[in-house]
Amino acid sequence: MPYRTFLQQIAPLAQLSPGQVQKLTTPDRILEAPLTVAGKSYPAYRVQFNNARGPYKGGIRFHPHVTKEEVTSLAFWMTIKTAVVNIPFGGAKGGVSVNPKELSEAELEELSRAYVRAFYKHLGPTKDIPAPDINTNPQIMGWMLDEYEKLKGRKAPAFITGKPLALGGSTVRDIATALGGVYVLEEALKKLKLKAKTVAIQGFGNAGMNAAKLLKEKGYAIVAVSDSQGGVYNEEGLDPYQAEEIKKAGGMLGCYCLGTVCSLEQMPKEGSCRFIANEELLELPVDILIPAALGQVITRDNATRIKAKVVLELANGPTTAEADEILHQNNILVIPDILANAGGVTVSYFEWQQNRKKEQWKEAVVRKKLESKMKRAFKSIWRQHTPERTLRTTAYIYALQKIVQKLRRS
Ligand code: NAD
Repeated sequence: MPYRTFLQQIAPLAQLSPGQVQKLTTPDRILEAPLTVAGKSYPAYRVQFNNARGPYKGGIRFHPHVTKEEVTSLAFWMTIKTAVVNIPFGGAKGGVSVNPKELSEAELEELSRAYVRAFYKHLGPTKDIPAPDINTNPQIMGWMLDEYEKLKGRKAPAFITGKPLALGGSTVRDIATALGGVYVLEEALKKLKLKAKTVAIQGFGNAGMNAAKLLKEKGYAIVAVSDSQGGVYNEEGLDPYQAEEIKKAGGMLGCYCLGTVCSLEQMPKEGSCRFIANEELLELPVDILIPAALGQVITRDNATRIKAKVVLELANGPTTAEADEILHQNNILVIPDILANAGGVTVSYFEWQQNRKKEQWKEAVVRKKLESKMKRAFKSIWRQHTPERTLRTTAYIYALQKIVQKLRRS
């Protein structure tokens, strides 16, 4: 749903005045510039949506579908997400409309540096702090940091987060989204007094695979995982590390049951360990369902067939508004994306703090701080939660009120 429509709908529930709605639907600044690499020009954007709660914060994505409208909308959602976990940042987002797979490594580096040259006057540790997003990674953050420091003539590691450890990155950042999700999940299960055992996960990338590993270590049975080529179901629970090995060797997840790379034809299609399609995975009779791949996978069409008791949204926007209502009616608790997957930006905040204080925190310290932030956010939202409202609506109201409090003071 476009963020303006969304805000108009939720404004009465969050008791926002027309002036506040106006402020919250208008980005503070939209920056755009064409970036030229190897004779070709790529449109680039940085949208600084709102900084009432602190410096702008948000990732930079490289993708052919990037548009000014999309970046603006993502910058709005970042404003909400930083408020949900109560970190002292506002919201921003950046993007370049480019297919990075068509660039050589040298061209990718040049594009990353050109992005910083185009916008650096508006960026900085106390102004706007970028981070990785789709198709951008620690290496790219390193190039961007180097370019910024060259332009400024001084070291400034707090300019960007998601850096390699050697350049001031934080431990735990690589698994932060999944770990943050696991912390809120544990808290939700406690509140529901639910002894959950079985888990199905759609998506086996950074978020999904790490969630599978963390939950397996905690004793859950991961009965199904999938990626874009389908998945594997194992009644007894599967080992995500072995599933990762199969993928690394070039196999599809469905080959897991055979323990070796195989073709689609060779995969078992029935029995206690077998291939499973993505649609079927979502409808398995498990305790916990984790969409960790794409948006809009739980819709009006399949929501009535979802049997999980809890849905942990590690992906952004996996549940449509209509499906959300159906799940709520069916007593299925959806832990919304703005809370469930906020562990990444929370550890980004810890990285920024470490850089500002010239410290490097141990893994156990970062984990503890993440646990505390995530659980505290969950508990605050749970306290305001009523049976009539979804946890998502409550989380939005909670975040909007936090932003509005600061608007009043600014
Ligand atoms: P990723 O690229 O590492 O992994 C994505 C996974 O989804 C891959 O396994 C891919 O094969 C799978 N996939 C793609 N199409 C699929 C399909 N049709 N059906 C099933 N699986 C499919 O990405 P990620 O970083 O793990 O992000 C996954 C989701 O989590 C996205 O929605 C992203 O916006 C969200 N998210 C990620 C982070 C993070 O820190 N990684 C933070 C916040 C939100």
